[in-house]
Amino acid sequence: MKSFEDIARLIRPNILKLSPYSSARDEFTEKAEVYLDANENPNENGYNRYPDSHHEELRTLLTQQKSRLVAPNQLVLGNGSDEIIDMVVRMFCEPNIDNIIITPPTYGMYEVVANINAISIKKVNQLPGFRLDVEGIIKQVDVNTKIIFICSPNNPSGNAVPKEDILKIIETVPCMVFLDEAYIDFSDESSFTSLLSDYPNLIIGQTLSKFYGLAGLRIGMGIASKEIIAVLNKIKPPYNINSLSQKTALDVLKNIDYDNQLALIKAERMRLIDSFEGLKCIEEIFPTDANFVLIKVYNATDLYNYLVNHSVIVRNRSTQYLCDNCLRITIGLPRENDRILELITKYDLKS
Ligand SMILES: *Cc1c(COP(=O)(O)O)cnc(C)c1O
Repeated sequence: MKSFEDIARLIRPNILKLSPYSSARDEFTEKAEVYLDANENPNENGYNRYPDSHHEELRTLLTQQKSRLVAPNQLVLGNGSDEIIDMVVRMFCEPNIDNIIITPPTYGMYEVVANINAISIKKVNQLPGFRLDVEGIIKQVDVNTKIIFICSPNNPSGNAVPKEDILKIIETVPCMVFLDEAYIDFSDESSFTSLLSDYPNLIIGQTLSKFYGLAGLRIGMGIASKEIIAVLNKIKPPYNINSLSQKTALDVLKNIDYDNQLALIKAERMRLIDSFEGLKCIEEIFPTDANFVLIKVYNATDLYNYLVNHSVIVRNRSTQYLCDNCLRITIGLPRENDRILELITKYDLKS
């Protein structure tokens, strides 16, 4: 697919025609002394005015950061990237007609969002070693397939998908590819944002919830061509990011020590993996590019319950495809990692 013309044919006609909600601040954009146009309460308390619906300042700051060096009009913010995923599905997929492709084991929200919107789901399972079945994915695309969801680094496996596999899919399929880069900041692989100008059918999802430590603020990002972002801006609820979240995100992002935080998490990740290697209850430690590590043990439920009984909670992913007896462990603070290591070591001696 070469241009936005090709993409426009994939967009739902009602969305293409949509005239978006126009707020008071959209209709009068200059500075004034007195604002009597939005039915706000005039008593100042810091929050009596509606938030900036365009998130100007935050978007500009975000596009100046590593792994996101795009123009501000190539970025849309959502109430978490879960809202971005929902907006992208509603932009392209006609309920009860269209379908999406997902690649289990993967992030659970793609399936939930599709189900809420009455979009059918084609599953192309990953191959052992958590490799994408590239040919299988391409074969499953039909005229009603609108979006292929790829997660890299993948949740729950943790590995980054090889760049050439992602490129092969983007270059071959006549539909959109949503590349979920929620964990890209922990990876040695670079973001696909620098390739956006070559691939009009690519939409990238990122989030402030993981690396930036702002899961409670609910801020996610959609990054794509300016034409796609313009359409997503029409779908977006006008005030989806509240004033407090925008302000707090700006404060945190201006002061973040990016390199130091990354080094700490990578060092702890390495330390956990090294220590796991000596334990006989652990059968396999899967390669990770994320802030968590997936391990295969002899009896996941038993180890999970043992940890719960000692007040340490990990995620039992055993029900997921290829994840039989697998636990997903988030990298915590050094003392938290010490605690889980101490417990698993004790468990290992008993077993
Ligand atoms: C955590 C996560 C997200 C983030 O969701 P938010 O709504 O931004 O908190 C998105 N995708 C994947 C794969 C995740 O693991």
